Amino acid sequence: MIENTLVLIKPDALQRNLTGHVVFRLAQAGLYIVGAKVVQVSDALAHEHYKHLRNKPFFPELIRYIKGELHGKLSSGVLAFVYRGENAVQKVRDVAGATHPEQADPKSLRGAYGRITTKGVMENVIHASSDPAEAQREIGLWFAPEEIVDLEPAVAGNASRSVPRKAKGGL
Ligand code: UDP
Ligand code: MG
Repeated sequence: MIENTLVLIKPDALQRNLTGHVVFRLAQAGLYIVGAKVVQVSDALAHEHYKHLRNKPFFPELIRYIKGELHGKLSSGVLAFVYRGENAVQKVRDVAGATHPEQADPKSLRGAYGRITTKGVMENVIHASSDPAEAQREIGLWFAPEEIVDLEPAVAGNASRSVPRKAKGGL
């Protein structure tokens, strides 16, 4: 099934200039970008995005992490993407690897580049929606509908075509 999923390149990855690497790996997985922007993450957005973790001891530090407060001025924000493709949710999770960097496959992004801080936060390179329902909720949180390009399903599932049917604001 063709799915949409949310990907965030987190501040630790921005600080290490890993953006190109992440985008390359997701392209290799056969996925297409249908939405993209830089986001200065507000307190409200951070809390809403991670509301399922609000009772965890690491929550305050997690909020600081996703707001970019731990990685210096040049990384104070995240890159947000909507990716589309066949089984996009699971494919992105596979490229990302397990949540805990030490348990993640060493060839995955989190296994290769993630770490756990002394304050107990897993800095793990990217966020990836964990299932289709979460993807729908999160895409609605981070993107307005008109910010997502309307690719035909055939395009998203077929590497030989890459022309959007209609791009908002285009010719
Ligand atoms: N996290 C953490 N410690 C934990 C669990 C999660 O620091 O014990 C952080 C980590 O950055 C993770 C994010 O909280 O990516 C969201 O947690 P979730 O369980 O949703 O994992 P994910 O879906 O990102 O793999
Ligand atoms: Mg999650």
